[in-house]
Amino acid sequence: MQITHGTTAVVEANYDYTYVRIHADNGQYGTGECFFAPGLTTALHEMLPLLEGKDPREVDRLCRFLWRKGSGAGAVAGYLYNAISGIEAALWDLVGKSWGVPCWQFLGGKVRDEVRIYVDCHAGDNVESWGPMLDAREPQWLKDALAGRPQHEERYEPEMYFNRARQMVAAGFDAMKFDIDSIVVLTGEELNRPLTRAEMDKMAACVAAAREGAGDSVDLAVDCHWRFAPTEAIRIARALAPYNLLWLEDPCPPENYRDVAEIRALGIVPILTGENLNRRHGFWDLITHRGCDLVAPDIQKCAGMLEGKRIGELAEMQGIRFAPHNIASPLGTMASAHVCATLPNFVALEFHGSDVPFWNDLITRPDVSGPVIQKGRIPITCAPGLGCELNEAVAKQYAKPGEPWFV
Ligand code: MG
Repeated sequence: MQITHGTTAVVEANYDYTYVRIHADNGQYGTGECFFAPGLTTALHEMLPLLEGKDPREVDRLCRFLWRKGSGAGAVAGYLYNAISGIEAALWDLVGKSWGVPCWQFLGGKVRDEVRIYVDCHAGDNVESWGPMLDAREPQWLKDALAGRPQHEERYEPEMYFNRARQMVAAGFDAMKFDIDSIVVLTGEELNRPLTRAEMDKMAACVAAAREGAGDSVDLAVDCHWRFAPTEAIRIARALAPYNLLWLEDPCPPENYRDVAEIRALGIVPILTGENLNRRHGFWDLITHRGCDLVAPDIQKCAGMLEGKRIGELAEMQGIRFAPHNIASPLGTMASAHVCATLPNFVALEFHGSDVPFWNDLITRPDVSGPVIQKGRIPITCAPGLGCELNEAVAKQYAKPGEPWFV
């Protein structure tokens, strides 16, 4: 079995959903998804010819080959790993489909039959779309979705958190996450100033409202997006402790794991981090020093499914739980779900597309009908590869202008 060529396509959704497809000489192909990055398809098209003529079954060998070939552009970290992550998933999908084996089998076999999903809520009205440099944009589907809706001024009021939590419980989720950094008036000086009493009170009021809306049986997490200095993060942790959080995510900048490690050591609230890191080496200090309670690799970024599994196993050895970051389309979400299905220390997988009107329609599954996420869970079956196909008839309607479509 030989790789003949690779192709790409990009869907312009709430983020760029970047797909990479590996074609083999038996006529089959596998499809993977990459975390967005500027210039990502250019990088993919530099990499894909290097794989032509190689055996797609040698997944780890090919990935290590790409790590080495990309070492000048980013030896241990950087957006080339977004590209490699998508290629790696495409290889597993191809090999799985050619052998009739689900991807979870290659990762040691599943330890559960469904993967629990937590829904990312922000708060209130949250239909958005961001370019690869996190520049706000308005593709046509977003203009249509926003037509007639109220503007966003009130999105960070407590009642918005309450209503959103209620809505997600009604949709069947029993775990959810809200942003709290957006409550603060962001001036760019957040790392250099103490939060005001009013800001602290507003954060606590919004989380209290989310907790009330979700109820006491639902897991509730909050995300800070690396905004705060350790002293302020400790104040936030203490203020939110009464709400029994599943975790406090990324309270401090990601450059130095010791910042969050110090907060974690206080034992006020569980700390989650890791979505920025690549390869298990990027997680090494964080995990070996027990710098967090939960680790959150992004399977479309960290270097792929097998690397995600390895990171999860390192974490398990240190008593750290596993809750992957995920902003992918359902295809990437399925890749992440296969990893989650095999790890005993898994807690929940993120779902970031609840406001993308076509999210569920982007894949089809041969043995599961209905929405991708059902009652807050993704069923894990024995369907080969990733257990899904990109629904190109739908996906192509949202193709990003100027990007190739699987050529
Ligand atoms: Mg986050």
